[in-house]
Amino acid sequence: MVSYGCGKGCGVDMEYIGNGDWKCPTCGRVIAFGEPDEEDDDNGETLSLWDAADIYLSRGFDEDYRFGYTHEELMKALGKW
Ligand SMILES: [Zn+2]
Repeated sequence: MVSYGCGKGCGVDMEYIGNGDWKCPTCGRVIAFGEPDEEDDDNGETLSLWDAADIYLSRGFDEDYRFGYTHEELMKALGKW
């Protein structure tokens, strides 16, 4: 049986909430595990680097809002690097 963690070290299994999304019952973080971790092709289903950078900025550079990008990539997209 596969068990997913939320990435925050809550130590609990994620709950499946539908649509490929899983939610951590402890911290409430929702992650779409149905998608591959890395995608080279831009198929329009993943958050763009620029959208991610905007959100990252608005969240005060919270590492939980990097959406799979690195800090350097996001800062570069914001023109602050
Ligand atoms: Zn959690």
